[in-house]
Amino acid sequence: MPKVLRLHTLPEDEKILRAPNAEVNFPLTVEIKELIEDMKLTVRKAPGIGLAAPQVGHNLMLAIIHLEEFGIESFALINPKVISRSIKKTALEEGCLSIPKVFGDVKRPAKVEVVGFTEDGRKVHLKGEKLFAKVLQHEIDHLNGILIQDKFEK
Ligand SMILES: [Zn+2]
Repeated sequence: MPKVLRLHTLPEDEKILRAPNAEVNFPLTVEIKELIEDMKLTVRKAPGIGLAAPQVGHNLMLAIIHLEEFGIESFALINPKVISRSIKKTALEEGCLSIPKVFGDVKRPAKVEVVGFTEDGRKVHLKGEKLFAKVLQHEIDHLNGILIQDKFEK
């Protein structure tokens, strides 16, 4: 049965949240498949709309996108990269499960294109706009050790 993982938060877990994240190899190990199921449960219970592996103490290029209420089924995104960003940027108030009670406006490209892999090793090319674009960028930032507070509008 999947279990809820401990959320790593600032300030005590900053080292893990800032550490480099390793690419995930395919086929996935049993441990990584379990981690994905545990992360899906953890983000649902939090509740959150995205969760990156370093937020639960694993420095891997892996994130869960959980936007079911927007019609996108919860999925694992592995080794993702942003390959294109719109010139137009929009600001949105963001929070982060790793930074409790802190919210701030973050300005990001309104649309992005991302490539990555699903848990069955299939390559995906995602085109995100609106909230989907923001979540993709927020989670990929985590995989590069970047947190929202680094991007708050001054
Ligand atoms: Zn976050």
